[in-house]
Amino acid sequence: MTERKRGFDTLSIHAGASPDPATGARQTPIYQTTSFVFDDVDHAASLFNLQVPGFIYSRLTNPTVAVLEERVAALEGGRGATATASGHAAQILALFPFMQPGDEIVASNKLYGGSINQMGHSYKKFGWNAVFVDPDEPKNFERAITPKTKAIFIEILANPGGVIVDVDAVAAIAKRAGIPLLVDNTMATPYLIHPIEHGADIVIHSTTKFLSGNGTSIGGIVVDSGKFDWLKSDKFPSLSKPAPEYHGLTFAETFGDLAYTIYGHAVGLRDLGASQSPFNAFLTLLGIETLALRMERHCANALAVAQFLEKHKAVAWVSYAGLASSKYHARAKALLPKGAGSVFTFGVKGGYSAGVKLVESVELFSHLANVGDTRSLIIHPSSTTHRQLTEAQQIAAGAGPDVVRLSIGLESIDDILADLDRALGVAAPGSARAAE
Ligand SMILES: *Cc1c(COP(=O)(O)O)cnc(C)c1O
Repeated sequence: MTERKRGFDTLSIHAGASPDPATGARQTPIYQTTSFVFDDVDHAASLFNLQVPGFIYSRLTNPTVAVLEERVAALEGGRGATATASGHAAQILALFPFMQPGDEIVASNKLYGGSINQMGHSYKKFGWNAVFVDPDEPKNFERAITPKTKAIFIEILANPGGVIVDVDAVAAIAKRAGIPLLVDNTMATPYLIHPIEHGADIVIHSTTKFLSGNGTSIGGIVVDSGKFDWLKSDKFPSLSKPAPEYHGLTFAETFGDLAYTIYGHAVGLRDLGASQSPFNAFLTLLGIETLALRMERHCANALAVAQFLEKHKAVAWVSYAGLASSKYHARAKALLPKGAGSVFTFGVKGGYSAGVKLVESVELFSHLANVGDTRSLIIHPSSTTHRQLTEAQQIAAGAGPDVVRLSIGLESIDDILADLDRALGVAAPGSARAAE
């Protein structure tokens, strides 16, 4: 095999996969099995001691899931990855090696609403404390760091507000503090940006969205850059101190730049149990094969819709970083030159009631709580995904009462625009047809 570095489209189809050694099957088989037979007692012992790689039990590792892990690690330019049952499971698993009761993370307050709930409420039950800051001013992260802070958590392209974070500045702050930067790259995908090239140490995905791409499978993944030095301080004892349950093995010394990924399987998945099913991994691999083509069309359709809405009489504002009117436009062009994604928000004139009317009036768009499907999707966050947040939190997260979120799919653009135009005419009477 030549040393030539393969391109993104090639890796999307081939990374991690080779013809099945047992049958020659070209597509990755679904290894729908809980367990794997040991060669003999010594083989079993060395697997359990983490002395040789191999498969024991699918809560820890599985061959189909392993292909997904290798593929996403390759696409992100990471060293290794751990797939999980969902994006939210990935967020717990990603932090699990760092956090003890009383420890803190500093997180952007412009995250997916479900993440704000998870971090703001359920993390407290583990004794983990999330401190939220406005990411528009990177210094806010620095000011919030204390001796107990173990990580910074951001989305570069945030769901749903169209906010783009100055990742390089935040990465520099994390580096100075000696803590890892975690980036949820669900909205941008590695097609639009490689967070590791901008200083991220760990990249997280809800594979439920663009990676699986067809709205079939809940899943998540944690990718490690392999670049963070866990031994440099005593902040990360799970990785830098002997693990009693593995005969005093020290993950960072024994496994080097794979320590975090091996810990993710050998302790994280072993004890949290949030493993991805082989069938979901298979469907997600199928989706990833066409990631580049889909993202290209997602972004082109989204830009056309944003431009159409910006001129529409029933629309108060559009927040899409691909538009010149966005305050994030220059940063979008610099960080995401291939496009600003396909999820964005706009304000419908008439507020909460017009938003509800709009989602009830669309026909092609599906009213549901997902993004990143081939189908165009619509939701009114303040009556659905963000309804558990206070109004102040809703506004901070870009999900106030008049906000409508779109995830633009791959349908013919004329059909997408016609459906929105008609539904806007019902939601905000007197304003049908886009202004010329
Ligand atoms: C959907 C989503 C999550 C949560 O992922 P699930 O797969 O639904 O658990 C996390 N972050 C972002 C940005 C998301 O869009």
